[in-house]
Amino acid sequence: MLSTKVNPYEMAVKQLEEVASFIKLKPSILEYLKHPKREFIISIPVRMDDGSVKIFTGYRVQHNFALGPTKGGFRYHPDVTLDEVRALAMWMTWKCAVMDLPYGGAKGGVKVDPKQLSDNELERLTRRYAFELIPIIGPEKDIPAPDVNTNPRTMAWFMDTYSMSVGYTSPGVVTGKPIEIGGSKGRVEATGKGVVFILNEVLNRLGMNPQDVRIAIQGFGNVGTHAAFDAYKLGCKIVAVSDVSGGLYEPSGLDIPTLFDWAIQNPNKHLSSYPEYSKITNKDLLELEDIDVLIPAALEGVITENNADNIKAKIIIEGANGPTTPDAEKMLLGKGKIVVPDVVANAGGVTVSYFEWVQDLQSFFWEEEEINNKLKKIMVKAFDRVWTYSKEQNISLRMAAYAYAVSKVARALELRGIFP
Ligand code: NAD
Repeated sequence: MLSTKVNPYEMAVKQLEEVASFIKLKPSILEYLKHPKREFIISIPVRMDDGSVKIFTGYRVQHNFALGPTKGGFRYHPDVTLDEVRALAMWMTWKCAVMDLPYGGAKGGVKVDPKQLSDNELERLTRRYAFELIPIIGPEKDIPAPDVNTNPRTMAWFMDTYSMSVGYTSPGVVTGKPIEIGGSKGRVEATGKGVVFILNEVLNRLGMNPQDVRIAIQGFGNVGTHAAFDAYKLGCKIVAVSDVSGGLYEPSGLDIPTLFDWAIQNPNKHLSSYPEYSKITNKDLLELEDIDVLIPAALEGVITENNADNIKAKIIIEGANGPTTPDAEKMLLGKGKIVVPDVVANAGGVTVSYFEWVQDLQSFFWEEEEINNKLKKIMVKAFDRVWTYSKEQNISLRMAAYAYAVSKVARALELRGIFP
């Protein structure tokens, strides 16, 4: 899925090694954490509408469950690889730990371009993928959720397949479901909303007024649209947004509510077909001159050593998972930029997924206001801890977040010991 040659798993291990050396992690624990606990590779046969059968490759990687059942989304994308899913699973372990959620990390994916499949084909693919995973998933084992190109409808098929297999309705097996079948209010918006809670915290600390802040957002899917919407409501100017087809640019600020509605009403259209505004490439969006904040909210590995020097924004808030390579981050930090790492910046999704799981297990559902208040409280607390520690130790926000997360998982491993 990377636009560069970066191997995401090597990138995740490199980040882990750096933090291990900083916190003086025991070599045995480092070795333990470098290796995912379980990796499932599945061939998924799907009967296509024309009667032919196609085989798709699916993955589910559970990185670590020292702190609880594993949690993490699954994506549909033609470039999914095992190493990508491994990296994403490891990042989920750190994300859950840094947010103090009682989960380990996992991730899944199927190598497929979902735009090439009909709805019926997509449903059969999802159901077979879910069925193949049954030995390793469940509300107490591993709880998937939406990610790139998967959504509440995908989760509904997944939940139904699991429930049909075990013989009773089990809403807690996935999160990000439609509200009618045990989903949580606020889940769809949660990741983008969380990105903007964090943006607001950063602006407060830098004494910046949201009205003076200009933002570019790469990715206009679940995370990007809701981040754009909430940042606009906060008073910021969103001057550029993009998707896989390229982007739109308007120096005086895009009309985000109209674009947001257009994106929701036209899920199969790309921004390149939007009739207004100047067009901009994804490369140029990242390197825009006149922005204060860049929010990469599409894919990993988009800010690399090849373009880091060209990035003008002072603040980078990682809406996507792993958008900045370690070498690129060093270059950005060297120029005094602030990079808020994915494990904190985009943790709103997993946090409300946690709320959804708790509500499902209790069969007792909360109001949206309560959910958003709880989300804000958890995100601000985690961010504050990471920010303060990074200042105290004079380290990056990522190092501070990882130091907390890795120490926490390591402590759990030590307390539990090695079986047998
Ligand atoms: P999505 O499928 O809803 O949207 C992805 C967006 O990225 C789309 O606009 C797509 O056109 C664009 N895109 C795809 N390939 C691109 C490319 N090569 N260049 C530029 N844009 C491209 O996915 P999402 O759920 O919004 O996830 C986006 C990122 O956020 C991913 O890294 C995902 O892992 C991460 N994330 C998502 C959630 C969540 O709750 N959905 C939570 C945490 C992190």
